[in-house]
Parts: sequence; C-alpha cells; structure tokens
Amino acid sequence: MAVTTRTVSILGSTGSVGRSTVALLDAAAPGTFAIVALVAGRDAAALAGQARRLRPRIAVLSDEAAAPALAEALAGSGIPWACGRDAVLAAAAMPADWTMAAIVGAAGLEPALAALARGGTLAVANKEALVCAGHLVLEAARASGATLLPVDSEHNAIFQALDARDPSVIEKIILTASGGPFRKTSLERMARVTPEEAVRHPVWSMGAKISVDSATMMNKGLELIEAARLFPVPEERIEILVHPQSAVHGLVQYADGSLLAQLGSPDMRTPIAHALAWPRRMAVDVPRLDLAALARLEFFAPDAVRFPALRLARQALRAGPGATTILNAANEVAVGLFLARRLGFLDIATVVEETLEALGTPPIPDLAAVLALDAAARQDAAARAVLRAS
Ligand code: NDP
Repeated sequence: MAVTTRTVSILGSTGSVGRSTVALLDAAAPGTFAIVALVAGRDAAALAGQARRLRPRIAVLSDEAAAPALAEALAGSGIPWACGRDAVLAAAAMPADWTMAAIVGAAGLEPALAALARGGTLAVANKEALVCAGHLVLEAARASGATLLPVDSEHNAIFQALDARDPSVIEKIILTASGGPFRKTSLERMARVTPEEAVRHPVWSMGAKISVDSATMMNKGLELIEAARLFPVPEERIEILVHPQSAVHGLVQYADGSLLAQLGSPDMRTPIAHALAWPRRMAVDVPRLDLAALARLEFFAPDAVRFPALRLARQALRAGPGATTILNAANEVAVGLFLARRLGFLDIATVVEETLEALGTPPIPDLAAVLALDAAARQDAAARAVLRAS
C-alpha cells in the first residue's frame, strides 16, 4: 500500500515541546512526513540545526535582529529562510496537514489563528492562546473546519478518556497537578525562592515560563481555563487534584460512576505522538510506567492559601473572556520579571490579582480588542511590579 506523506509545520520548534516534536518526526520512517515550516523566536543555531536535518520548505525566526545569524547558520544548505513577525504569520499560513502550536505565551495566538484559517489539524500546546482568546481560536477552527487536538498532557489525557457523544453524562473532569517544586514549602520560604529553584521541576522537564507557572500553580489555573474552552463541561465541574507521582494525567467521571483515566510516564512525546498519529496510534520509545514499582498513587486537594493563582484563574474564568486575557498577560509579565530577578515569587500572583481588579472584564469581540487588552494589561502589570519591587 502506498504511504501518504503528511505535511507538518512546527511553531516553536526550538522549545521544549518543539524539540520533542522534532524528535518524533526525526524517528519516523522516511517519507512519512514532509516538513513545511519550522518557526522559532531567536535561536538561529538551534533552528538551523533542525532545518538541516528535517529540510523544511522554510525556516523562520520572529526576531529580525537574528537574520545575520540565521543566514550564516544556513549558508550553503539551500534552505529558504526569513525573519520577522510577518514571516512567522506567513509561514504559519502555508498549507500543512498538521501543525504544532508550541510558541510560548500569547505571542503564539496570531500564528495559531493563521494556521487555523487554512484548515488542517492544529495540535495545541500553546495554552496561553486559548486563555488569552479561546473564543477566537474556536471560531477560527469552526470557520475553516480545522481540527483542534490538545497536546497539554492533562487535556490530551482527558481527550483520550472523553466520550463526548452525550456531554450530559459527563459528571466532571479532573486535571491532575504534580504540585511543582514548592508543594511542601512554607509561605515564608516561598517568599525567598529564586528563579533557579522555581524552574527546577520535580517531574517534568519544560521551558522556563511553564516551569515557573507550575511552581505558582498558575499553570493549573491556565489549564482549568484551557479545559473549559476545549471540553463541553462547565467550570464548576472541572476539578484540580495534586498528584505528586504524575502518572495519572487526567480523568473523566461519568453518570454511571465510571471514572476513566489516562496514565503514562511524564514524557511529552506521548501526548505529542497521540496528536500526531490521531485517530491512529504510533509507536514511541518512551519509558513505560512500571505500576508495581510506583506502588501507590496519591491525590490531594490543592492548598488555596499558598497557591492563590488557582483561585484567580477560576475567578477570571467566571468573570469572562476579557478577564482571562488580563490574567494571562499580567502573569506573563510577572513571570518574566521574576525570572529577571526583578519581582519576588509570591508577588507574581499579587500583580496578577491587582491587574485583574484594576482592569475589570472589558469585552473582546475581535482580535484587535484582544491585542489592545493584552497590551494594556501588560503595561498595567509592569507598573504594578515596579511599585512592588521598590
Ligand atoms: P520553551 O520556552 O521551551 O519554547 C518556546 C518556543 O517558542 C521556542 O521555540 C521559542 O523560540 C519560541 N518563541 C518564543 N517567542 C516566539 C515568538 N514571538 N515567535 C515565534 N516563536 C517564539 O517553551 P515550552 O516548549 O516549554 O512551551 C511551549 C508551549 O507549550 C507553552 O505555551 C507551554 O505552556 C506549553 N506546554 C509545554 C509543555 C512542556 O512540557 N514544555 C507541556 C504542556 C504545554 P526560541 O527558542 O528561538 O526563543
């Protein structure tokens, strides 16, 4: 039987999720996939290395200042390249059967929308796009007939366990959380944690921003919003449980009392491969869960006092789409300042809360309104952070 080659683009190819996606494509049989676009931010050397192996139709960096470095790194390869925001959007819009959305932050929203506008499948790791403007993402998918597949491990797990033919029989969905590096740390100690401590995740190896989000548990707050956008379950029926072993990634409880779960090693190649092969499955060389060695699975309610980000995310979700845009933007700014040592760890949630209080829930009917609110929230959050730090 003839093998049909699937065309694939990766937005955010040099990051943690992007590299895991590249590893799966690299390991696939020749002729299975043809790479259309590899897109990243500013890491010319990493992008060029991937491009030389995967031979995409184009390699693109968003940072125009990286053009000389990319030109040099790709010299003699014959691989077309480009730099700048317009080039990112044009590359995302190139026809492809399957696109990985793995740019970090709201910067991934417009490329994701560009990819959705031309149809195909969008594998969504970039949860911030769904938090910032989930309604626009869903509308874009509906308009073009594109398929959205969740890659975030919890959402991918729920997608696997979900029988959505009759949403009325779904009682609740449960997102699990590892609890991050400060699961047992006192508030007094948390006030003094450093960026190095915050990015040292006990289970998952991830990019810096999502690692800090895991440490504040804002990651689970963003995932709560992501789940409410993706699945036919209202916010009050989405539960979060701390599960330090990170073996059970997500669960769905049904009206007959059944609780279906997806388990696996904490390795992003599994959910990425699930999205890549869907509706089939592909072989992936990840460590298998050894249940006997694991011996026990623990689940706890999260600590609302030490991790206020969860409450803020739930409040923003209840308040409406404008509030989640603000929550995401303020969090991105605060996390960036924390990583730059210009804001304390506990101040991240405080800055987010103050920004939410200051800006309310403005309507965001279209992309222009989303981008304007995102910018206003960033400005407001940055000013509040300066005041807290001084
Ligand atoms: P990383 O920080 O490791 O990678 C981010 C990627 O985005 C890099 O390729 C970076 O390029 C690129 N990038 C940054 N800014 C821009 C921009 N303006 N335009 C184009 N590309 C840009 O992040 P992760 O891989 O950890 O996370 C990516 C997304 O996936 C996040 O939304 C995260 O929440 C989500 N996610 C991540 C998981 C993980 O295990 N890491 C698990 C589940 C979800 P460069 O390297 O050149 O700067």
